[in-house]
Amino acid sequence: MSKSETAKPVPVVIVGSGVIGLTIAHVLTEGAGAERYQVTIIARDLPEDLSSQAFASPWAGANWSPMQYDERLHRWEKQTFDKFWDMIPTGLVLKLPSKVYFEHEDAESQVWWKDIVRDFRVLKTEAYLPSNVKSGVEFHTVSINPEIYLPWLKSELESRRVQFIKRRLVSLDEAGKLAGEGGVVVNATGLGARSLIGVEDKKVFPIRGQTVIAHAPKASEFVTLIPAVKGDVATYLIPRPSPPGMVLMGGTFQVNNWDTSVDIATAEGILSRAKAFVPALADPETRILSHNVGLRPAREGGPRVEAQIVELPTKGDLVPKLVQGDDESAKVLVVHAYGFGPAGYQQSWGAAAEAMRSLCVLRPSVTSHAFEGTPGTARDRYYLGISLGGVVQLNNPNVALGKMRARH
Ligand SMILES: Cc1cc2nc3c(=O)[nH]c(=O)nc-3n(C[C@H](O)[C@H](O)[C@H](O)COP(=O)(O)OP(=O)(O)OC[C@H]3O[C@@H](n4cnc5c(N)ncnc54)[C@H](O)[C@@H]3O)c2cc1C
Repeated sequence: MSKSETAKPVPVVIVGSGVIGLTIAHVLTEGAGAERYQVTIIARDLPEDLSSQAFASPWAGANWSPMQYDERLHRWEKQTFDKFWDMIPTGLVLKLPSKVYFEHEDAESQVWWKDIVRDFRVLKTEAYLPSNVKSGVEFHTVSINPEIYLPWLKSELESRRVQFIKRRLVSLDEAGKLAGEGGVVVNATGLGARSLIGVEDKKVFPIRGQTVIAHAPKASEFVTLIPAVKGDVATYLIPRPSPPGMVLMGGTFQVNNWDTSVDIATAEGILSRAKAFVPALADPETRILSHNVGLRPAREGGPRVEAQIVELPTKGDLVPKLVQGDDESAKVLVVHAYGFGPAGYQQSWGAAAEAMRSLCVLRPSVTSHAFEGTPGTARDRYYLGISLGGVVQLNNPNVALGKMRARH
């Protein structure tokens, strides 16, 4: 029997069951070598909690839609686009005709993503709709329905014997205890990374998104407007693959706004802007299905995907406490993956591959079976993460016990 056949699987505890935690679990448990991991997902909100506003994933459009250029994100977005494109035959992903309108001239010169989407071309002037539009492009992108996609991911994972536990964690050490020494913790907690003890990343903030979901069978294109001056409202309509005729209209991008209640004036604005861009909404079959608010889990400086060695207490109850000595602590490999803001779906597969790279670089005994790309880049980033972040210790004297307990 070979060494790899006898090796015990590495316990991996993923905290978070949004699109990021689920996709990382999918990548870890796919293909040859997947038996090397024994994956448990622990989360306050699971894919069936589709009406919970405590996590972002159920509230997304969700399509692949161009955002600002960034080399790292560009890589993830290309990888994710290609993956979704390949999934079109499954019916989970819609091949979506799309138009992006610009309030400025010469849109094409600012479009960095034309080689990612398919069938890209510049629109002729007569195709423009409202008078404020100065230029435009059309292409094919992809969309999914999170209410179908998230449960699908969960069922895939269950068929691979991934265990799901519904529980809110107060501190990272609770996950560390489950993983045990030599195990791995993946922190995919979205906005939760702001308050989870052991992480407490104050760069994390919400971007409030209000939307309207409608049955609008004649609106079959993704349409969005890129304004000359960016504000906190947006104009977009995203058709979903199913149920037939379902579209999502947006929206808002309200930075640092934690309000999860629906604002009626905002809803009226969303509808009137959408009608101006999509004449098909005037069809008598159009009807509103729901008004929604979700909080995008953003982070100053962009998403954090990196590995760290974290020292966690391993004994005692679940109440976080200062650790007295080394005998009560263990070093656990933590892979962080949070802060995806408005683009968690369209970066999900690329970011999951990056998380996998970080894990494999740290655990050379585990063969990397699932990641594509350049290991050298990941290794550089990993070492950078260690040298900048160092070892996070819950017995850090700068962390006051009173502060920890005050959160209960
Ligand atoms: C209106 C709107 C439209 C959007 N449209 C798009 C789109 O078209 N395309 C796109 O790519 N993206 C879109 N997004 C963004 C996308 O939804 C997010 O980027 C993505 O869902 C983030 O996923 P996540 O897994 O990182 O976080 P989340 O989905 O927030 O999941 C976090 C997970 O961590 C768990 N958790 C947190 N804290 C704890 C704790 N202490 N203990 C236990 N569990 C914990 C939660 O319960 C949850 O399971 C949109 C978002 C909104 C709101």
